[in-house]
Amino acid sequence: MGDRNGMGDAGARGDAKGGNDMREVQGAQTPEDADGVHQAHRASGVHGVHGIKDVVVVGAGAAGLNAALVLARARRSVAVVDGGSPRNAPAAHMHGYLSRDGMPPAALLEVGRAELAWYGVELIDGQVDHIEDHGRGTGQGVAGQAMGDRSGGFVPGFAVHLAGGPALRARRVLVATGLRDELPEIPGVRERWGRDLLHCPYCHGYEVRDQPLGVLGTHPGAVAHALLLRQWSDDVVLFPHTLELTGEERERLAARGVRIVTGVVGRLVVADDRLRGVELADGHVVPRGAVFVFPRMLPRDALLTELGCERDEGGWVITDAAGRTGVRGVWAAGNVADPRAQVVTAAGMGAAAAFAMNHDLVEEEIERAVAAHRAGQSADSVADSVVGREGGPEAVGSAVGAPGWADAAAMVTSATSADTGPGSGADHDSGSGAGARS
Ligand SMILES: Cc1cc2nc3c(=O)[nH]c(=O)nc-3n(C[C@H](O)[C@H](O)[C@H](O)COP(=O)(O)OP(=O)(O)OC[C@H]3O[C@@H](n4cnc5c(N)ncnc54)[C@H](O)[C@@H]3O)c2cc1C
Repeated sequence: MGDRNGMGDAGARGDAKGGNDMREVQGAQTPEDADGVHQAHRASGVHGVHGIKDVVVVGAGAAGLNAALVLARARRSVAVVDGGSPRNAPAAHMHGYLSRDGMPPAALLEVGRAELAWYGVELIDGQVDHIEDHGRGTGQGVAGQAMGDRSGGFVPGFAVHLAGGPALRARRVLVATGLRDELPEIPGVRERWGRDLLHCPYCHGYEVRDQPLGVLGTHPGAVAHALLLRQWSDDVVLFPHTLELTGEERERLAARGVRIVTGVVGRLVVADDRLRGVELADGHVVPRGAVFVFPRMLPRDALLTELGCERDEGGWVITDAAGRTGVRGVWAAGNVADPRAQVVTAAGMGAAAAFAMNHDLVEEEIERAVAAHRAGQSADSVADSVVGREGGPEAVGSAVGAPGWADAAAMVTSATSADTGPGSGADHDSGSGAGARS
């Protein structure tokens, strides 16, 4: 099948030694190109979206893209809608992802999108406004079902409404919308975010190893943050800022060799596009090469909570290990469900959700087939009526023909590289002339 992901031997660092695909990807995504994802989305466009998708994925970060890949390879029809603002966009490089260490974050997503397009997945540049639950039958809201549980007669179905646009019909939805980092309102913090104002030692600690590091005490987790960062440098200063430290915390910091500099932080000092230090309100500047902060992490989970998904005490939507929420047919993966998820973890969560979703769809199809079998239909006619074939008349029950339906093709502007995809176009979507790819 050749070098589908275009990585070739180029490795992870984006040295563009791969094939043509890689050059396209790399060319669109430089570290300086803050809007790279948006631009790439606009450039790739989408091809026609027709009928009922087995799964609509909201969010094309690592979680959503990996889920879509697994589902497409399970011969499911999939559309992915993405607003183009992945969490790690401010960072020039991504670390800790085996075989992709040091790659620009946007390049990873572009390679993923190219892989999906090859399988005929619909990639839609847009924002999902809300999701309507058109499921029918009994048993909705059954939480924590294990993989393989039978749907028990309930047929999930959804209308995924794009902002200012039409709705996509889906048998299942995966919400992989990530989270939002709320940063403290200290001058310089927002500007340096993802560059030399960092939060994750595992992502960027190695790159600032042995440098003079600071930790801003804008969050109760700052003490633990500072203690952890000693692993990367023996020159760590905690600025408690407005945080009150306990005696025990002071002892632990002292024992670990972390210095404490008291006083309210006024701003980050930047010169020649580099962080130089932390300035206190009294004007005193403590030179630092990089500063760490613990942002307040807020899940972008409105689509889930509006559907009735419940949050735990910590404020995160409750899912099982496979990402299944308490609302039938609705899954969540990545940072929207787990703030600790790194890129590789988010991708894994997407894969786990995809396995479970496919399993759930298979179960629904078996139930339907058994019912038809009992009614004396032939295997062929059963197959024809099995939900999951796009455009199947009963795929989302009451959703079909609901007011406000529109063909998403109306919002579609141009064809993607999916046009060069493999046989999945024939399997899933007669849309846009899928052909063999060399
Ligand atoms: C500065 C920074 C640097 C980081 N560096 C690293 C690193 O080096 N290594 C690492 O492993 N991790 C790193 N991370 C963490 C990494 O960003 C996350 O692990 C990862 O992005 C989670 O992937 P996700 O798919 O869950 O969400 P995201 O990547 O955030 O993707 C979510 C997508 O959903 C879209 N979306 C949201 N709402 C909607 C909607 N309503 N409709 C349509 N689309 C929507 C968004 O536009 C976005 O594209 C870093 C994070 C930050 C903040």
